[in-house]
Amino acid sequence: MNHDRSHELFTRANQLLPGGVNSPVRAFKSVGGEPFFAQRAEGAYLHDVDGNRYIDYVGSWGPMIAGHAHPKVLEAVERTMRSGLSFGVPNPLEVDMAEAITSIVPSCEMVRMVNSGTEATLSAIRLARGATGRSRIVKFEGCYHGHGDSFLVKAGSGVMTLGLPNSPGVPSSLADLTLTLPYNDFEAATKLFEEAGDDIAGVIIEPIVGNANCILPREGYLQHLRELCTRHGALLIFDEVMTGFRVALGGAQQRYGITPDLSTFGKIIGGGMPVGAFGGRRDLMSQVAPAGPIYQAGTLSGNPVAMAAGLATLELVREPGFHERLDTATHQLCDGLEAAAREAGVPFHTTRAPGMFGLYFREGPVETFEDAKASDGARFGRFFHAMLERGVYLAPSAFEAGFVSSAHGEAEIAATVEAARGAFAACA
Ligand code: PLP
Repeated sequence: MNHDRSHELFTRANQLLPGGVNSPVRAFKSVGGEPFFAQRAEGAYLHDVDGNRYIDYVGSWGPMIAGHAHPKVLEAVERTMRSGLSFGVPNPLEVDMAEAITSIVPSCEMVRMVNSGTEATLSAIRLARGATGRSRIVKFEGCYHGHGDSFLVKAGSGVMTLGLPNSPGVPSSLADLTLTLPYNDFEAATKLFEEAGDDIAGVIIEPIVGNANCILPREGYLQHLRELCTRHGALLIFDEVMTGFRVALGGAQQRYGITPDLSTFGKIIGGGMPVGAFGGRRDLMSQVAPAGPIYQAGTLSGNPVAMAAGLATLELVREPGFHERLDTATHQLCDGLEAAAREAGVPFHTTRAPGMFGLYFREGPVETFEDAKASDGARFGRFFHAMLERGVYLAPSAFEAGFVSSAHGEAEIAATVEAARGAFAACA
């Protein structure tokens, strides 16, 4: 594969952008080599500036659940932008979006639109602190909730990929207010609440940890957290920026039957445009300014073009059978990859939820962050490049979930599994 033009761009970018990128994992640091630059994308495919084509399992890190450049999403964007890009006064699409989210996710009686997942989680913990009058929050090792100061404590995703789980620049007096727990450990959570329960404003969790590869909750674990929060007067915040509208129409909370107090969203509800949202119980959301005193604002929040892209995407995921088909495709992919690894004699395991998956170069099961970290990262790096050479783009980090979209048909999955046969053999 020729990457001359990407190389030229990356050389220029490195002079101008830290690490040559605008978001760290894109730099391929942990897998080595250089990123390719995208020219365009369509359906399940990314096309780079050198004319190479890749089956894409990153999907812009989650938003492209209906595939790239879906005609219905593009049409909605085109139509909306002709009326103006931003108004700074309310627009009807914001109300449509609020209705769509609250009707799909019953725990969200009210929502506030923001511009990224990070803004959503920052705002949710401010609300939790303001509403409870408490300062401490609890997060889980390996979970990533964006780059807000309070979350860069034992975080996953890019910070884990780069080995920076506690970032310089976060004052220790603030980081000290973030308590961390091992995900899927019942006893540790009970113990922490016994010791500090009265100080805890909220517990924020990725119900399926997609930022430490893809770790699923143990039976009853999320319910356990729900009970602890209720008993101690802390708010349970589901960060569904990744899982929302993906692992079920109503997200992980629907899949596992849990009612959080607050939820955060992003990615899919923007359909590829910069969007986030937080929502929850009416009595809590009513405390957000200007209805209440807890401040939150945004120049571009509720942007009409972003709302149009998100609404068109939500319409697609609401089609009957959408998630069943996504689930089937995810299983076909993961079963195929496991079979290919077995043929090559490579220790390998997958975890899956509808539309998302984790790849581990070790035997299963993988149920904790420690299990995920025990995957052979060097081998993953070799596999990643062997797949890329064969036209398949996986997340360039052993700590990121992969995403399947509705545009990944049988042909793409069969081609991926075929590529994996060669890639496993190359890294056996
Ligand atoms: N929460 C989760 C679970 C995420 O996966 C991410 C981003 O990947 C975020 C929050 C932050 O979202 P954003 O990158 O839009 O700020």
